Amino acid sequence: MTPADFQPALTHCYFCGQPDKILLPTKAGVSVQDCHGKIIDREPCARCADFMKAGIIVFSIDEAHSEPGEEPYRTGDLVVVTPDGFDRVIATLRPHVVPQALGTLDAQQAFAHKHRFTFLPEALMRTLGLLEPESR
Ligand SMILES: [Zn+2]
Repeated sequence: MTPADFQPALTHCYFCGQPDKILLPTKAGVSVQDCHGKIIDREPCARCADFMKAGIIVFSIDEAHSEPGEEPYRTGDLVVVTPDGFDRVIATLRPHVVPQALGTLDAQQAFAHKHRFTFLPEALMRTLGLLEPESR
């Protein structure tokens, strides 16, 4: 192996987007450099895994940059709430959701409890007090 063969690559955590695992080549002549920053790891990084043990991670998203059917555009802010706390957030939202969207809200609540994360629009998180009004 030449020194260039030993160039590592970093994966990114799917959840928070932070650099996560280090990839190293395992055979001579195999480079992982092309993978650098391009692999999204669906296994939570250590920080996200800790957060998911503690509660439900609510990631702030920018709706203006999020296309339906694609990955939500994360703003980088997140909060961790207890499952009960998340249910209170959903209960707060419920009266303000149009009836057709209640199924979506129920699905989001069930998803968050099962997978220990969810996404909410940044402006809504500020309105709900999950983020400081001027934290950015
Ligand atoms: Zn993470």
